[in-house]
Amino acid sequence: MAFRIVVQDCDPPACGYRCLQTCPLGVLLAVPRRRHNRGLPGKPDRYVITARFSRQCNACGLCVEACPEGAISLQS
Ligand code: SF4
Ligand code: SF4
Repeated sequence: MAFRIVVQDCDPPACGYRCLQTCPLGVLLAVPRRRHNRGLPGKPDRYVITARFSRQCNACGLCVEACPEGAISLQS
């Protein structure tokens, strides 16, 4: 199964991280968008959602339904 998130359509602070809140298996993770922000003090200005633990995903589709931007898609 392919898990795709369109980064340009994703705005985690605006939606309240709905997909993360919705996933029952903890598959998704918010990471700083800019690599150079990692490990530096201060809050990164942008986060993106990744399917970090995609092997755990059961393709339930709850995150797809939860996303107000239609940024997530699943393809078998
Ligand atoms: S499809 Fe279901 S299990 Fe997979 S990331 Fe989305 S909410 Fe989680
Ligand atoms: S993928 Fe959708 S629900 Fe998840 S953080 Fe981005 S905009 Fe929000």
